[in-house]
Amino acid sequence: MKCLQCGGGLEYVQNAQFARCSHCCSLFRNDNRHLSPVGPPDPDGSAAYAAQLGFAPRKANFTVVGVGGGVNLKINTGKMERDLKNKVSSMIWGWVIGAVILGLIAVIFVGVGIWVYAQSKSAAASTGGSAALKSVTWDGTSPFTCGGVDVVKLEKVKANVATGTAITAGGNCQLTLVNVDVTAPLPIDASGNAKVTMTGGSLKGTPEAIVASANASVTVAGASITGKTKASGNGKILGVK
Ligand SMILES: [Zn+2]
Repeated sequence: MKCLQCGGGLEYVQNAQFARCSHCCSLFRNDNRHLSPVGPPDPDGSAAYAAQLGFAPRKANFTVVGVGGGVNLKINTGKMERDLKNKVSSMIWGWVIGAVILGLIAVIFVGVGIWVYAQSKSAAASTGGSAALKSVTWDGTSPFTCGGVDVVKLEKVKANVATGTAITAGGNCQLTLVNVDVTAPLPIDASGNAKVTMTGGSLKGTPEAIVASANASVTVAGASITGKTKASGNGKILGVK
């Protein structure tokens, strides 16, 4: 026997007293191999009635018969649900993986930042002082000395040192002189890795005005220099005509 609605195969319950189309789910009473439709006409009511009769539930597929003049429209809700779940879970996984990667990048950046900060801190600590600009005063009558990792700026000083060297820069001292006038037997003696920058002002020395030795450098910009300059080793004196 075949389904009266669509000609599909039938499944039976209650000693074949009832039949259900395995294709369109139509329900029939079987009276001696004579089929007659039973149950509510709507799909939900029909499914409930089918369950009462003892048919296994077929929730996954529900079928609308007769749309567009006999065309069967089958919607496999189970598969749609599964596909949607897969899509949603793959989207969520995409977000999770993206967030984890972003988090790792952030951690690396922050870590590197902290490391660099710690390194600079410990470097400053191990050399025995900060590299911050030291505010100093110089009365200009006694010799001035900078060394270590001093970063010093002297401005608008008129110095007259009677004997020896007026300004001695050694170590890694970075000394900036702005509009400083120095008269001394030797106004500037730079040694070690000292870097002296002189802007404006004047130097008067006898016989040398500037001496640079070792890796020291003295850069002069717009200053008046009276006396010789003497560079030895890798010492450099720049900007003096
Ligand atoms: Zn059928």
